[in-house]
Amino acid sequence: MNLKLAIAGGKPVRQNYLPYAQQWIDEDDIKQVVTTLKGDYLTTGPSIEQFEERIAKYVGAKYAVAFANGTAALHGAVFAAGIKQGDEVITTPITFVASANAVIYQGGTPVFADIDPKTYNINVNDIKKQITEKTKAIIPVDFTGQPTEINEIIEIAKQHNLVIIEDAAHALGATYQGKKIGSISDMTMFSFHPVKHITTGEGGIITTNNQTYYEKLIQFRSHGITRDHSKLQEDQGPWYYEMQYLGYNYRMTDIQAALGISQFNKLDRWIKRRQQIVNRYNETFQKMEQITTPYQLKETESSWHLYIIRLHLEQLTVDRKIIFEALQKENIGVNVHYIPVYYHPYYQGIGYKKGICPNAEKLYEEIITLPLFPKMTEKDVEDVIQAVKKVIYYYTK
Ligand SMILES: *Cc1c(COP(=O)(O)O)cnc(C)c1O
Repeated sequence: MNLKLAIAGGKPVRQNYLPYAQQWIDEDDIKQVVTTLKGDYLTTGPSIEQFEERIAKYVGAKYAVAFANGTAALHGAVFAAGIKQGDEVITTPITFVASANAVIYQGGTPVFADIDPKTYNINVNDIKKQITEKTKAIIPVDFTGQPTEINEIIEIAKQHNLVIIEDAAHALGATYQGKKIGSISDMTMFSFHPVKHITTGEGGIITTNNQTYYEKLIQFRSHGITRDHSKLQEDQGPWYYEMQYLGYNYRMTDIQAALGISQFNKLDRWIKRRQQIVNRYNETFQKMEQITTPYQLKETESSWHLYIIRLHLEQLTVDRKIIFEALQKENIGVNVHYIPVYYHPYYQGIGYKKGICPNAEKLYEEIITLPLFPKMTEKDVEDVIQAVKKVIYYYTK
């Protein structure tokens, strides 16, 4: 325990711990799930189809394919894009490990492009620098809910014949030039993990306008099996099905989809609530010269999965770790998004070197994620603000 902290701390701003993110389950959700449990289908039934339709319609895409989780969905997209051994896929290091892992699952090689120091999203010029003859796809990540500069990424993809798989785990409901994320890239992934905008416990989905990708995703989700008799290589009878390539059991249950439908009904209201909280944070934190608040591209409207402050360490007497621990002592559930993917021992072990993305590495030293979720009360929000002010001013030079 750090002695200085005890002095900085005194009486904590709040008595009980406020998490950085939390789901919101109400009686409607519980009713929907129970109704499904009493019905005929526990897996791949009518709720899956309905959930897929609702999400597809919402984002303006032709198709949606639900998966057991967002990572499985990304794996499906990497498969559908045809990524295989020797292929390179460009992504950002400031993301959850799943964005890069999904490439490795299919034998491909993730290549990390550095971030834009303003938006923290993948830097378009750095994507260009990383392109080789082996590059087959780009996985941009709409970090914190703010879309990437997707039009420019599409230009690069066209020039080099690359597939774009957008990791929009943070960005359900976000827009780029007024258009919802989910219908712009070749394939877009959303996650329904409990910290995300809406939850199915575990869950994910791919949206796409491309029928070929859609059919591949459906088949991949269920062992690579098809029962569509028009697609069989031979037809031995009504019972016959074929496993045509190696897929997985990545299906979402109908129970989860029922929860997803019920959660979906609240999505727009919850995004508005997130925006309100962000406005309140910005109002205070934009006046503090020790902090950089999130930057918004004028083309985008974030759906605000995360609110991240960046510390100006040169104005503080301590590093991020001490600020982080001091906020924890105030019972504020802070977090760090993310450790650069290639810092992890697995990635170091397969040959990635530190130093390859200096902007990402610098960002990592300076960021703290503050609590942000729709169920937060006004008091919760004010507690976060009080705690940040208390800790930051205490450690200001
Ligand atoms: C949550 C998340 C995922 C994966 O989602 P799961 O549903 O947890 O598998 C992928 N990428 C990013 C950026 C995420 O935040």
